[in-house]
Amino acid sequence: MLTFYHIGGKYDILFSTILFGIEVDHMNKNNNLTKRMLDFIYSSPTAYHVVDNIAADLLKRGFTELEEDSAWKLTAGDYFVRRNDSAIISFRIPKKSFKGFHMIASHSDSPSFKIKENPEMKAGAYIKLNVEKYGGMLCAEWFDRPLSVAGRVVVNNKGKAETRLVNIDRDLLMLPALAIHMNREANDGMKYNAQNDMLPIFGDDGAAESFFALIAMEAGVKKKEDILGHDLFLYNRVRPVFWGANEEFIASSRLDDQECVFCSYEGFVNSKAKDYVAMHCVFDNEEVGSGTKQGADSTFLKDTLERICDGLGKTREQYHMAVANSFMISADNAHAVHPNYADKADPVNRPVMNKGIVIKYNANQKYTTDAVSAAEFKLLCKEADVPYQTFTNRSDMPGGSTLGNISTAQVSVNTVDIGLAQLAMHSPYESAGSRDPEYLAAVSKVFYNK
Ligand code: ZN
Repeated sequence: MLTFYHIGGKYDILFSTILFGIEVDHMNKNNNLTKRMLDFIYSSPTAYHVVDNIAADLLKRGFTELEEDSAWKLTAGDYFVRRNDSAIISFRIPKKSFKGFHMIASHSDSPSFKIKENPEMKAGAYIKLNVEKYGGMLCAEWFDRPLSVAGRVVVNNKGKAETRLVNIDRDLLMLPALAIHMNREANDGMKYNAQNDMLPIFGDDGAAESFFALIAMEAGVKKKEDILGHDLFLYNRVRPVFWGANEEFIASSRLDDQECVFCSYEGFVNSKAKDYVAMHCVFDNEEVGSGTKQGADSTFLKDTLERICDGLGKTREQYHMAVANSFMISADNAHAVHPNYADKADPVNRPVMNKGIVIKYNANQKYTTDAVSAAEFKLLCKEADVPYQTFTNRSDMPGGSTLGNISTAQVSVNTVDIGLAQLAMHSPYESAGSRDPEYLAAVSKVFYNK
């Protein structure tokens, strides 16, 4: 179910400002889209929930789900396929013979802490959970805020292994910081040891042996012994907000990269494929290098492209021609210039929030953008009447990487790396511009409509 529930009190404040006639632009289309995006992100605490929410919405829109282990007989129309419950490729096949594929790729995962096997640890009068890092996060921001657990479990349903998504939808865990009195150097830079410092408190000693009973109940099975496997992660419970003098900013968990997932999806479902197969691709495990069967470095995309051509009765030669005619937008958020750390950005290419889509460049090709793909993307922006800006790292800083160059190693197509400008990347509560989502949705729609 696509349960985009409303984010509560924060919006009540927004609407009341309208009543009082204060000039804010949150009732325009931009913030309507942004608000729906924040609802989507809040209802998608893990990659599994991202994919589940998208699949439910696609089914409601009449898309047909294809299974990888069944034969595909395709005609013009709308389809999607999932892998591992955490990656999803949706596509629209146009009525007339197509020239190639128009793809936007983003990622479903975000840095978090994964619950280990046998996670309960007795620590004096408390029960802690043993967790390990998933991806490269800012650790400090996980302290002193309500956390909970979500993900998937595999349960024993009468001798059959069955996957179920779970989300303990309440404030369950906390990672309290050490008081300043016990560490006077706390404000001079902290080092966090993942095994010692980052284990959240689950309860007092009365909570012993109850963690998996709680998960079992959420998964709809009677006993904790019915849980055969789990991929469970911590998530931040703090709700998304609009902030700033004119509500020009937003803050939320997982903006990287669910902002790009949602905005490109918005363009995708509102498009009509004409000369190209429109494809919305969401891969998992970007934060840990993409090297899984559901990551951008897997055969998932290649398999899907081949099977689209096979399912339509195209020849091998026609498949290669279609790939050669294709274009990919690799959409993953970009660093905005931070006003308190302005010298961390390139002296010239300095993206800011709400000033349009960021085109990312890197000489060592960590970003795939080159002169040709940048030019193509700029033309799309012009057609969509959307502003764009540029990002490069400082020449003395390595910076991050993304999924575009990894995906093109599997399927070699002309690709541009873009994203929306944000601050506090890989914090469990990131900030971005409230007007930028509309830009990405608009340019995605123009691209898919080609
Ligand atoms: Zn990302």
